[in-house]
This record gives sequence, structure tokens and C-alpha cells, in this order.
Amino acid sequence: MKARDGSPADAGTVMSTTAGTPAGPEPGRGAILNAMTIDVEDYFHVSVFDGLVPRHRWEQMESRVCANTDRLLAIFNESGVQATFFVLGWVAERYPHLVKAIAAEGHEIASHGYAHRLVYDLTPRQFREDIKRSKGVIQDATSSPVMGYRAPSYSITPRSLWALDVLIEEGFLYDSSIFPIHHDRYGIPISPRHPYLLHRGAGLVEAPGSTVKWGPMNLPIGGGGYFRILPYQWTRWGIARLNNVEKTPAIFYLHPWEIDPEQPRLRAPVLSRFRHYFNLGRAEARLRTLIRDFNFSTMIALLDKQVHAARADNSTGPLPYIW
Ligand SMILES: [Zn+2]
Repeated sequence: MKARDGSPADAGTVMSTTAGTPAGPEPGRGAILNAMTIDVEDYFHVSVFDGLVPRHRWEQMESRVCANTDRLLAIFNESGVQATFFVLGWVAERYPHLVKAIAAEGHEIASHGYAHRLVYDLTPRQFREDIKRSKGVIQDATSSPVMGYRAPSYSITPRSLWALDVLIEEGFLYDSSIFPIHHDRYGIPISPRHPYLLHRGAGLVEAPGSTVKWGPMNLPIGGGGYFRILPYQWTRWGIARLNNVEKTPAIFYLHPWEIDPEQPRLRAPVLSRFRHYFNLGRAEARLRTLIRDFNFSTMIALLDKQVHAARADNSTGPLPYIW
């Protein structure tokens, strides 16, 4: 029964498997559609490097985001995968051709905010300005509506839940900024693990980063550093478990700089360097394997029904903040 419950013993078996045949549910390109999402930012935008590269120096840095995103587009094109690109407004403003190229390939464009500021460090007014600016520059480049938002470093936490109201007021239909885990920088561990509807006015769907339950804890399996740093079998087992046992989709995320082992190295503290640079050389091959192992599409393809329900909901009661 332990394997079925996703217990530590089960995960341990998976982690120690070396032949690419982990215990537990097998992956398979079944009926479940997962979301492939990319946070389009450069290597010097990441929050762990805040202070090392102040915003006024961003213009002077060597930018690699266009070349790296082009490589991701080529990978997805070869595999027929459609994805959602949460584009940083700062990037969209400087490289509108990149936003156009993403949209031209049929991918969904969403917002990663404008200046990569952590939401809980902003006032509601500053947050509103940031997301309005990002939406404006992205829509100037594509003329297609921006429906989704993902906060830098998943920074909608108990300190910044007010941001959900601002997102609704600014016309966003879904958010993907609340990770239901314990982490030193983000997370609401007791928030729901699967996409859910937050009612009020036009409504908003929350699509949390993917996790598997391990005893009382939720463990992240949805991408980023967890995808690079842990063995590929961890992600593979976790998504298979969500798809085949829980019958739910996974929401996977990656950054363009994560497939760029040649990026300039910044002098950050040891932990930040580890989180950012470890296994950069392996992520691209892993991504190719991942999109062979599972079905992926855009966030809006996944959330379509819930977004429609959210739009049809005209209740004006309080948001069900239960955590
Ligand atoms: Zn980011």
C-alpha cells in the first residue's frame, strides 16, 4: 500500500532506480493533458541574484533570452507541443519580435509581471502598475489577449493574497503563483494542490505548481530547479502519479536560461549558485525526454472549462481564503 500512497518508501525506491524504470505508476501518453509553461526571463532577472545585478544594470548585461527561447521554440516545434510562455514585460518591451515569434507558433502568451519584483515586496498599487505595464507591452507586441499571470518566484503567499483581487480587477482569468509547499521564499503549504476556482465577480482560476503528497508534506515535481537538480526519474514518477493515480494534470515550468550552460557566471552565494547553475547542461535533453513521455499543451487548454465557469460566476462573496 505504501507505493500507492506515495510514501517515503515509494519515493526512495524511485530515487534509487538507475535504469530509467522507476517503481510506481508508469508514464504513458494517455488522455491526461499536462501544461508546459516557460517563464521568459534572462539569467540576470532571477530573484536569487537580486542585489547582484540591480535593475538599472539590466540594460548593460549580455542578453541571452531570445536565443534560448528560440531553442525552446524549436524543441516544441519538432515535437508538436504547444506551451504557455509567461513573458516578463521588461523582455517583451525590448524584444517584441520574440513575443511575436512565440505567438506565431501557436503558443499562449501570458504575463510574468514587468520588472520581476516579488509580489510581497510591493504595495497593491505598485503591483497593479507592474501587471498593467506588463500586459500592455505584451499586448502591444501580439494583439492577443493576456489571460494568465505567474508571479516572480511564486510570490503570492499569505502576505500577498490581496494580489488575487488586483488580478481579477485587471482582467486576468487565471493565476499560477501559489505553490502549495514549504519553501524559504514562497509557498502556502495548506493551499489546494490542483487547479481550483476562486469566486468573485469575473472569477479567477488558481493553477498551483505541481506536487505529490508524501506523508503530511507536498513535494514539488513540477519543474525548474527540482527538474534540474533531482534525477529525471523524480519528475517522471511524479507526473505519472498525478496522471495515472490522481487522474489530474501536472503543471510543468522551466526558464530559457535553464537550457543554457554557457551563460555568464555571476558571483552569488554558494546556495544561490547551486540552485541556478547545477545541471544546466542536462536540462535540454531531459526536456526532450519529458515531452516524449507525457502529453503537454497550454495552460488555457487545461483550464478552459474552469475559466468559463469563473467568467459565468457573478457571485460577489468573499474569496474562499481558507488557509
Ligand atoms: Zn521569474
